[in-house]
Amino acid sequence: MPMNSQSYELGVATSSIREIAAYAAARKAQIGPQNVFDFSLGNPSVPAPPEVRASIERSLALDATALHGYTPAAGLPEVRKAVAASLNRRFMTSYDAGDVYLTCGAAASIAIVLNALVSPGDEVIVIAPYFPEYRVWIEAAGARCVEVRADERTFQLDVDAVARAVTEHTRAVLINSPNNPVGTIYPREDLERLGRVLDECGRELGGQVHLIADEPYREISYGAEVPWVPDAYGRTVVCYSYSKSLSLAGERIGWVLVPKTNPEHDELVPAVAGSGRKLGFVCAPALFQRVVADCVDVPSDVAAYAKNRAALTEGLSQAGYTYVEPQGAFYLWVKALEPDAKAFFRQARELELLPVPSDSFGCPGWVRVGYCVSHDTIVNSIPAWERLAQRYGRRHG
Ligand code: PLP
Repeated sequence: MPMNSQSYELGVATSSIREIAAYAAARKAQIGPQNVFDFSLGNPSVPAPPEVRASIERSLALDATALHGYTPAAGLPEVRKAVAASLNRRFMTSYDAGDVYLTCGAAASIAIVLNALVSPGDEVIVIAPYFPEYRVWIEAAGARCVEVRADERTFQLDVDAVARAVTEHTRAVLINSPNNPVGTIYPREDLERLGRVLDECGRELGGQVHLIADEPYREISYGAEVPWVPDAYGRTVVCYSYSKSLSLAGERIGWVLVPKTNPEHDELVPAVAGSGRKLGFVCAPALFQRVVADCVDVPSDVAAYAKNRAALTEGLSQAGYTYVEPQGAFYLWVKALEPDAKAFFRQARELELLPVPSDSFGCPGWVRVGYCVSHDTIVNSIPAWERLAQRYGRRHG
C-alpha cells in the first residue's frame, strides 16, 4: 500500500461517538431537533465566559503582524509564565515558564507526552473504561495499550490491579480525573497509594513509570476536591486543556506541564519540546495563547452542568436505572438494561435517545450519557427514558 497502513486504518475506521453524532444530526434534520435527544458528544453546552471575548477584542487592537505571526514553538513566554503563576497560586508550587509547553488542546498534550516518553515495545496502562483516543495515541507512539479495569462497583482506581499490570516494559500510566466517561474523581488517598505502588514497581523492575494526568475536566467538579496529582507522585506529567473549562473546544488550546518535582524534569522538558517538533505541534494558536494569559484564573461555569446532572439523575433513578453518581465532568455512566450495550443502544435509538454504548470505552454493559446539552433536552428526554425502561419491564414513579 503506497501509504501508512496504520493511518489508513484509522481514517477508514469509524469512531462510534462520531457516528452517533452524525446520525443525530441527520435525524434532527428529518424530524426536528427538539425530537432527538443527542447525548453523544462532549462538546460544552455552556458559552465561553465574557472574559474570553474581552481578551479577543483587546488582542484585535494589536499590530496585525504581531497578532497573527508565529510565536516561539513552546508558546509566548508571558503566557507560559501566567500559566505557571496560576498553578503556583492554586497548588503552592514553584513552577516557571520553562516547565510549561502550550499545545493544541489535551489531544496534542497527550500525544506529545507519549512521544516524549515511550519507545517501540514499551507499554502504557489505561484505566478501562477510558477515552477511546488514548489507544490511538498510544499505538501511534509505538507503544502497547494495556487496559486495566477500574473497580467494578465504584469505577474508581483499582490500585492493586494496576500494580499487577506493571511490567519492566511499562513506561507510563495514563489517568483521567474527573473522568470521561464515568464522572468519578480520584481521591487523594488513592492517588497517593498509586504513587507508592508505582515507586515500588519502578524500583523492583528497574524501570521508571510515569503518571500522565489528563485533566481537561479539572475545573468541572460538583464539590469533590480534585487533588493535584504531582503532589501524590513525583514522576507525573500533567496534560491540560481549556476545551471544557472555558468552553473553547474548537479553538485548540492547552498545555503540558513537566513539574520541577519530576526527577526526569531536566531531560523531559527538552523531550517534550522535541516531541512537539517531531509531531508538528509547535506554536499553539496565537490568539488563544493570549486568551489563556488573560483568562487563566477565570472560573468555569459549572452551574448549568450541575442543574442538568440533578435533573438527569433524578429522572433516571425514578425510571429505575442504575448509574454511577457523577462527581465531575459532564457524563452519566448508566447501566444498560441488558448485557449487550449495543443492543440496548438500538432500543434507545428507536425512542430517539442517543447515548454512547460502553464498548467504545473498553467496557461492556453500560452507556455514557453526555449531559453537556440544553436543560430542555434533559427534561424532555425523561419520558423516553421511562418508556425505554418499561420496554425492559421496569416500573417507575
Ligand atoms: N481527554 C479526555 C478524557 C477527553 O474527554 C477529551 C475530549 O473530550 C480530550 C482528552 C481531548 O481534549 P481536547 O479537546 O482538549 O483535545
